[in-house]
Amino acid sequence: MILADFHVHSVASHDAFSTVTEICSAASRRGLEWVAVTDHGPAMPIGQHAYHFAAMSVLPNTIRGVRLLKGVEANILPDGCLDIDTELAEVMDIVIAAYHSTLWTYGSKAENTSKLVALLDSGVVDILAHPYHPWVEFELDAVFEVMAKNNVALELNEKALALAKHEHVAPLLIGARDHGLLFTLGSDAHYHTDVGGFSTCLDIIRTYSIPMAQIINYDRIKICSLAERRCKP
Ligand SMILES: [Zn+2]
Ligand SMILES: [Zn+2]
Repeated sequence: MILADFHVHSVASHDAFSTVTEICSAASRRGLEWVAVTDHGPAMPIGQHAYHFAAMSVLPNTIRGVRLLKGVEANILPDGCLDIDTELAEVMDIVIAAYHSTLWTYGSKAENTSKLVALLDSGVVDILAHPYHPWVEFELDAVFEVMAKNNVALELNEKALALAKHEHVAPLLIGARDHGLLFTLGSDAHYHTDVGGFSTCLDIIRTYSIPMAQIINYDRIKICSLAERRCKP
């Protein structure tokens, strides 16, 4: 049974339309026990200021019986850094990191690889989100090795997988599976009715024979260790 959704946007992202309470209510109706609210980071015009993410500490840890993970979908900038600083990342429950092409142009495969390896080795990223893009390339083996070393999960993103081409998805998912990486399921819902909807992800899991034991969303112990891996003050 799927117990968590690790990638949801609230009205705090200007391209999304549901409140945190609506998201938690929808998660509860779906039978989820955890939901991560991960609004866009500050470098995007549709994203939020860093103060917003720090202020998420005022939210209850449980709403409508669902554990709320206070997160961010941080942007990987062309210099390889995130658009939130390390101090902020350390107080969030969950940090997912993503390339977004509409605003930035990324470098060569070698440049992207060394920057991404350094970022994933820094310990601030929990999940590498939807990296199945033709417009940013990196050396898969080098990235998978650093993800395995740092327990960074690869995301199965419901929205992005529905649009991605097999030729871009296959090497990533087969490589990650064979490196024994952990995966997360994220709906990337921008409206609460999509929270916990994973039909494309489930098709992908079957197509690529991704073992259930490598998928965090099915396992309470793995979910807790992902949610609690940061040392909180
Ligand atoms: Zn994204
Ligand atoms: Zn997103």
